[in-house]
Amino acid sequence: MSKRIAVCPGSFDPVTNGHLDIIERASAVFDKIIVGVLNNPEKKALFTIDERVEMLEECVSHLDNVCVAAFSGLLVEFVRKSGAVAIIRGLRAISDFEFEFRMASMNRKLAPEIETFFMMTGNEYAYLSSSVVKQVASFGGCVKGLVPVVVEKRLREKFLSRKAEGSAIEE
Ligand code: ADP
Repeated sequence: MSKRIAVCPGSFDPVTNGHLDIIERASAVFDKIIVGVLNNPEKKALFTIDERVEMLEECVSHLDNVCVAAFSGLLVEFVRKSGAVAIIRGLRAISDFEFEFRMASMNRKLAPEIETFFMMTGNEYAYLSSSVVKQVASFGGCVKGLVPVVVEKRLREKFLSRKAEGSAIEE
């Protein structure tokens, strides 16, 4: 029987414990999960595509059937090329619904053979997003428990180096 592969797409700038909860739970249902990291040069990211992939790889290394790959362009093309049959998206508050509904409808129009599955966020991650994490970390706030330890460390390094660059310019 052919393997049931699903893609978990996103920006993952950076990966949070909310993302990991979805990836872990999805990996228990599908034969293989490909975490697709979107490389969109128009969207200004804090971490480079390589940094985002690296952090994710470290965080999913305990899951045998999960791998990480960068992609650009149309998601459905990436899904097709990967031999996957499904897209997994996480849903937090109702506010996610409208956007996800539009995306899923468009993707179904482009590729009717690919199904989108939605997974409800873990309760403790309902209000967690990469942007909130970046905002808190940029002001030196504690993001422990919201992101894996490796991400916590990378955030600290990133904002310290930015601060150093900023003060060098000011001088
Ligand atoms: P995108 O820019 O595509 O929304 P994200 O990296 O923000 O990329 O999110 C990737 C996926 O993870 C999306 O399906 C998003 O809804 C989901 N997600 C993000 N944060 C959480 C969370 N705290 N709980 C559950 N799902 C989440």
